[in-house]
Amino acid sequence: MKSYKTLLFDLDDTLLDFKAAEQEALKSLFSAQGMSLTDKVAARYRLLNKDLWQSFEEGKITKEEVIHTRFARLFAEYEKEVDGREMDDDYRKHLERGVQFVAGARELVSSLHGRFSLYIVTNGIARTQLKRLHDSGLYPLFDGIFISEELKAQKPMNAFFKAVFAEIPSFTPAGTLIIGDSFNADIRGGQAAGIDTCWFNRHNLPRPGDIQPTYEVRELQELQRLLQDKPGKQN
Ligand SMILES: [Mg+2]
Repeated sequence: MKSYKTLLFDLDDTLLDFKAAEQEALKSLFSAQGMSLTDKVAARYRLLNKDLWQSFEEGKITKEEVIHTRFARLFAEYEKEVDGREMDDDYRKHLERGVQFVAGARELVSSLHGRFSLYIVTNGIARTQLKRLHDSGLYPLFDGIFISEELKAQKPMNAFFKAVFAEIPSFTPAGTLIIGDSFNADIRGGQAAGIDTCWFNRHNLPRPGDIQPTYEVRELQELQRLLQDKPGKQN
C-alpha cells in the first residue's frame, strides 16, 4: 500500500453498523403503532428508503422529501395513515441510540489515531450522526467530521469532496485515501474527486465493471494490516 497522510472514513456500515441500529429503530416505531415488524416489512422499508436516497444522491429530490415522506409511504402500503414528519422525528430519536460497531472498527480507528489525520465523511443528518459519533466514543479520535447536511452537498457529488478538501489543512490528493462500503457514494465519488479509494466490501458484492477501486477489503482487519507499517503523517 502507498503511504497516506489523510484517511477519510465513511461512517454508516463502514465503522458503525447502521443496519443493526436501523432494525432496532424500526422495531420501536412499529410497536408504537401496535404493529409488529416482520422481515418482509423491514425489507420493504429498506427498498423504499434506498430508492428515495438514491434519488437524493442523483439530485432529483430534496433531503426533506426523503425523510418526510418515507414513513408516510411505508405505512400507507399497510393502510395506515401517519404523519411522516412526526414519525421521522421518532425514528431518528430511536436511531440516535444505535451505536453498534462494525467488527474491528473500534480497534482500527484506535490503531490509526495519532498516526494519520482522520476524518469522517458521511451522508446523513447532522444531529443523528454527531450523537452516534459521541455515544460510540469515536468523536475525539477524528480530526474533523464532514456531514452532507452541513456541507449542503452529498457523496458522490464533487461539491461534497471539494468542500471537504478545502477544510483539511495541507491537503493533497495523492496523500489521501477514502474508505467506504458504498461503491457509488464512496468509491465512484472519491475516484472522481481524484483521490485513492478503498472499497470495504463486507458482503462480497460483485464489483461494478466500469471503474476499479485502488484497494478492496472484506474485513476492517485487512485494512489495519495494510496500514500497519505505514509511516502516516510524519512523512
Ligand atoms: Mg456507508
